[in-house]
Amino acid sequence: MSTVLFEVVTPERTVLSEQVTMVFVHTGGGELGILPRHAPLAATVKPGIVRVRLPEGEDYVHVTGGFLEVLPERVTLLANAAEVAHEIDVERAQRAKERAEKRLAQRTDDVDVRRAEAALQRALRRLEAVELSGRAGQILRQRSPQR
Ligand code: ATP
Repeated sequence: MSTVLFEVVTPERTVLSEQVTMVFVHTGGGELGILPRHAPLAATVKPGIVRVRLPEGEDYVHVTGGFLEVLPERVTLLANAAEVAHEIDVERAQRAKERAEKRLAQRTDDVDVRRAEAALQRALRRLEAVELSGRAGQILRQRSPQR
């Protein structure tokens, strides 16, 4: 089965470095499905969930947005922050969700609504990535038990 190296890198660490059969990324121009030997391209990445297809099945990575470089042999996503689904702390995401919801419900003068909405979306997407990954079988956790 043909594969391509997919790397997700943040200023802090390499979040993922795996040979994948396909990867789906939400870019500024819409959702992009990238196969091995894809033509070179560069794109902005929207905050969202990246779907990773491996020989054993699918898994998910949450990214807060960034930049994508596609080369025939390598796909690199530079993200502000990113987590493979199995790394996501569900209780922390739940707390972030509740905090943001509370702020949005209060809407007092000192509440930055856009910031609270962005925090809420991040928390919801993290929870969604965990749920999707759970259903898919947490392939990346099984592949990389040391993580
Ligand atoms: P919180 O309010 O819980 O810090 P946040 O959305 O403000 O959440 P970010 O600014 O997006 O957090 O990320 C800061 C760092 O914390 C990043 O390295 C990110 O990967 C990590 N991170 C945030 N939330 C979680 C989580 N629920 N589980 C694991 N890592 C997380």
